[in-house]
Amino acid sequence: MGPELRDEVAARLRRVQQRLTPKRAAIVEVLAQAPRPLALPEILEVGDGLVQSSVYRNLVVLEQAGVVHRIVTAESARFELAEELTGHHHHLICTACGTVEDVPAASGLEASIADAVAQVEGETGFRTSTHRIDLVGLCRRCA
Ligand SMILES: [Zn+2]
Ligand SMILES: [Zn+2]
Repeated sequence: MGPELRDEVAARLRRVQQRLTPKRAAIVEVLAQAPRPLALPEILEVGDGLVQSSVYRNLVVLEQAGVVHRIVTAESARFELAEELTGHHHHLICTACGTVEDVPAASGLEASIADAVAQVEGETGFRTSTHRIDLVGLCRRCA
């Protein structure tokens, strides 16, 4: 991982009184390289010498520190780096095979969402900082 990402991850861990250990760095590296959110077995497959119980414990710490975001699906959880570290995007969640794909946030869609958000804020007084959109259904393979 680049020095910038490493510094930000370490800073977020410090805020919850934790350190960037070699194992945590290895997990962050696996997630940073992944083209989409990964399930625990996939993290173990890619990360050489990582042990399941230890990876799960460290994922929980990284999640508490705001480094990792957990996407809960019906079948299992998937993990990715938090949006603040990677960039805004949405997800396609397949209910048949459990795959989660990232989709870029298209500017037209973001503009429509901003309009809808402004309306909701006007009605409720809620102040929005971000949004999350997961489209749930069947992927091309399962459809
Ligand atoms: Zn599928
Ligand atoms: Zn968006």
